[in-house]
Amino acid sequence: MLVDSHCHLDFPELFSRLDDVVQAAVRAGVERFVTISTHVGRFERYRAIAEGDRRIYCTVGTHPHNAGEEPDIPAGRIVELSRHPRCIGMGEAGLDYHYDFAPRDVQQRVFRTHIRAARDSGLPLVIHAREADDDMVDILRDEMDRGAFSALLHCFSSTETLARAGLELGFFFSFSGVITYKKADEVRRLAALVPDDRVLVETDAPYLAPVPFRSKPNEPAYVVHTARVLGETHGLNEEEIAAVTTANFYRLFAKAARLEQEDG
Ligand SMILES: [Zn+2]
Ligand SMILES: [Zn+2]
Repeated sequence: MLVDSHCHLDFPELFSRLDDVVQAAVRAGVERFVTISTHVGRFERYRAIAEGDRRIYCTVGTHPHNAGEEPDIPAGRIVELSRHPRCIGMGEAGLDYHYDFAPRDVQQRVFRTHIRAARDSGLPLVIHAREADDDMVDILRDEMDRGAFSALLHCFSSTETLARAGLELGFFFSFSGVITYKKADEVRRLAALVPDDRVLVETDAPYLAPVPFRSKPNEPAYVVHTARVLGETHGLNEEEIAAVTTANFYRLFAKAARLEQEDG
């Protein structure tokens, strides 16, 4: 079984045919999904999607693109929402200096709020990092000194600097369809540096479809292709990389493991 640890099932491309999307994924061997929050203010939607299917979990958080729309939500509010049984993580939150949709100081402040929420709740933080590696590393180190938290560097395609810092801080790394792209030699090289027990896979659907679906709308079923390429960087076959990434998912997102144990 594979887990799509990061998708956006609330986006219209996927939500409008959610049952088909989930069924196609299950046929491909993808049996768990985390639908990722981009706005704390839309938590009701994520939660409803997760409540509708036992294989789907959700998170709560503000994407850095939207930090300007939700600049002042207190950590306590995010923690409160995260107590919902189907909510297993914080984020996605982070820094995106490629688009700079929100002012950088606001992005940084909102990101730190999410780190606090992750620390206080004990839930892992899903981190979005794009072209902001120096500030990202500074904030992560500074916040880790204030108190431990766990995190996942999602859609990892950053520099070796952030990879090394993430490894040192004990974070997990999730790889997306980007790792299948012809020109992504550097992503594959860095993926090989991450130990087997710290790698996950994701689609980030509806974005970033892997080869051979590149530039088409992405969906969770396609994570199979990403997993195969990640497996190659680790010398693991398809079955082995599925077992490894799924075990890592349950270790990082321990609340999902607990829930499923309780359900038997
Ligand atoms: Zn992201
Ligand atoms: Zn995302």
